[in-house]
Amino acid sequence: MSEALYSSWIEISRSAYRKNIEFFKGRLNAGTELAVVIKANAYGHGMVEIAHFADECGIRVFCVHSIDEALTLRKHGFTQRIVVVGPTIKRMAKAAVENDIEVLCCDPEYLHNYDNIAKSLGKTVNIHLKIETGTNRQGIAGQALIAFLEELKKCTNVRLRAVYSHFANIEDTTDHSYARFQIERFKREISYIREAGFSGFDMHFASSAAATIYNNTHFNMVRLGIAQYGLWPSKETYLSYIIEHGHGPEHILAPVLSWKTVIGQVKTIKAGDFVGYGCSHQMTRDSNIAIIPIGYSDGYDRKLSNQGYVLVHGKRAPVIGRIAMNLTTIDVTDIPDVKAEDEVVLIGEQGDQIIRAEQVAALAGTINYEVVARLSDRIPKVVVD
Ligand SMILES: *Cc1c(COP(=O)(O)O)cnc(C)c1O
Repeated sequence: MSEALYSSWIEISRSAYRKNIEFFKGRLNAGTELAVVIKANAYGHGMVEIAHFADECGIRVFCVHSIDEALTLRKHGFTQRIVVVGPTIKRMAKAAVENDIEVLCCDPEYLHNYDNIAKSLGKTVNIHLKIETGTNRQGIAGQALIAFLEELKKCTNVRLRAVYSHFANIEDTTDHSYARFQIERFKREISYIREAGFSGFDMHFASSAAATIYNNTHFNMVRLGIAQYGLWPSKETYLSYIIEHGHGPEHILAPVLSWKTVIGQVKTIKAGDFVGYGCSHQMTRDSNIAIIPIGYSDGYDRKLSNQGYVLVHGKRAPVIGRIAMNLTTIDVTDIPDVKAEDEVVLIGEQGDQIIRAEQVAALAGTINYEVVARLSDRIPKVVVD
């Protein structure tokens, strides 16, 4: 058990992280790069801390959403390849080139901007060209792609480092016909790129779900997000794994993150008393309640009001009343001897109980991705083995 240095903290497990990465390394075809996606503060786990874990595991490529995240990693001394998969505004292009950040690019205007900047700095910029295959977010295909390639040929200081795409419907279903359709479109667009005279570029498509289920989606690189943190993309992905492999996973993914806090105050209230804003909960018996110093501003979803539960002394204590900005109330009537500063687990293990991000997500009407990604950056991170 760790010491409560803070009133609320996130523990991240180095050994759990390593196990997950080793599992995926074992699944990749030879020559396929395992890139880790550490956007959104590494899905709430702490971007810099997780980048150190990944570095220790020999990871050579980081994917982030924004140039700001990429620059933060450089500032912390990471020399890995960094790929920005979200848009980079023009006024940040110079910072990207100067810091050898690889960028998404699929617009001729941005392309020429990069080329001009790279020329003026005597550098080459590596771009990742995103192909529209049916997700209809970022990316181009067809005539727009042909036109882009014509412009790319004129750029002396831009290198087509990779061509990539993203699945629309792989986590949410066990029917992967749409994913197969997207792969076919991807391959067709790739053939246009080859016909236009380009070669030597990498290709990447798979995020966690595809990386886990189908080796034929791996190409030269896999962009592993949620699974590195020991969370399955969905139940459907878990089921698809079993369908595809004929057995369950050899390695049960190990959740990397636990979120803990301590009790601020314990008190006794009477049957009939109300709890919290809106008087949304009324006690039916004389009760012991405890106040914990976390709330929706920390990322504890307000939808968990009167729905969630936490662990105290290895037992479940229900959340009662509304979750406030920084405070939440729990009912500890049936848990003996609870006192101020006792440890409370919001996500993770205590005694022989565990609260998974998936359980919190189900109670809040969302997915595990959102539960962890919305944990506030200001919650301190504690590295544990
Ligand atoms: C977030 C993201 C991923 C990672 O997805 P997971 O399902 O978490 O593995 C991969 N690729 C892109 C482009 C992303 O934005």
